Amino acid sequence: MKTLPLPAFFPDATYASIHSLPFHEVQEKLTGIVVTTLHMELIGIIELAEKAGQNYRNLAKFPEDKIILSDSGGFQILSLIHKHKLGKIIEDGAVFKLPESPKKKHLLTPERSQEIQAAIGSDIRVVLDVPLMGTEDRKTTVEAMDRTTRWAERAKLKFTELTGNTASDMKLSKNKLEFSRPLLCAVIQGGNNLELRAESGKQLSSIGFDLYGFGGWPLDENGIFNTKIAEAFVNSVPEGSITYGMGVGTPDDIETCYQIGMTIFDCVIPTRNARHGSLFVNKGNGETAGRTFDLVRIGSQKYETDMAPIDKNCDCPTCKNYTRSYIRFLQKKKNPVGYTLASLHNVWWYLNFMKTLAK
Ligand SMILES: [Zn+2]
Repeated sequence: MKTLPLPAFFPDATYASIHSLPFHEVQEKLTGIVVTTLHMELIGIIELAEKAGQNYRNLAKFPEDKIILSDSGGFQILSLIHKHKLGKIIEDGAVFKLPESPKKKHLLTPERSQEIQAAIGSDIRVVLDVPLMGTEDRKTTVEAMDRTTRWAERAKLKFTELTGNTASDMKLSKNKLEFSRPLLCAVIQGGNNLELRAESGKQLSSIGFDLYGFGGWPLDENGIFNTKIAEAFVNSVPEGSITYGMGVGTPDDIETCYQIGMTIFDCVIPTRNARHGSLFVNKGNGETAGRTFDLVRIGSQKYETDMAPIDKNCDCPTCKNYTRSYIRFLQKKKNPVGYTLASLHNVWWYLNFMKTLAK
């Protein structure tokens, strides 16, 4: 039986590792990671694991008691095909034409996505979906929503075949989720249309999945978190369902989504911001930034000789052992240790933050 404490935040390990941060550095706090199916296949780690007769989890010796959630590759349809025109969608699946192999087309079908996720050895697997930015017209939104439902049906068939058709014994209580077989997550679409969000939830929950993800892009045209659409998503699935805020987000957005009812989150923000010198700290310990957090922008001149830890209230190894001045110096010199120390702090801080939500 696996146990996942809720609410949970999973740092993104898009290319088989958390960026600049070995798993063991954060093991004490980590409950899980998110890996990206398309990238995991493209970088060759699935092939390598198969060559070694293993899945990715065993190859990385990722602890059995921690969760691997694999994204289906759906988000790359948004980021690579919709935004950058690097491919197209056909009924069979998504055809990626990527800069690293311009002559080769890469077809990702709902079934292939499940096969890769099985080869990853992930605990929570996501169906391949067709996400949108939310600003598309109704016709495009309906087409993407209906295709997502058709693909979800195909993905579930493949998932059932790969996992041996065992019934779920998932148990959800207020602060934890327990389960023994891998779980399958459908992704609710419908763009920024309240009615279509409800329809997508109805279509997918009538097929039946273990959990439901908030599909598409969570921000509106002004870059503001779209609370109404997030609420429509949670209300679109049966009461008591586990809902996953895919790619959410800042601590403020996570808090908002948690209050709405979502309990699982992932985002690149803690590690990406760490590499850009933007460090999350508790209120009162840095420059005012959000409702739930302040920021230390470590590149600022004012930290040049600052002997304090990043956050005096943080118990992470970076804050216990290093000064702002030293981390700033390393990052200015582009020393990778500076990125690791900052990423360690940000991920740790996020994981502590999740615990404060549960109280
Ligand atoms: Zn810290």
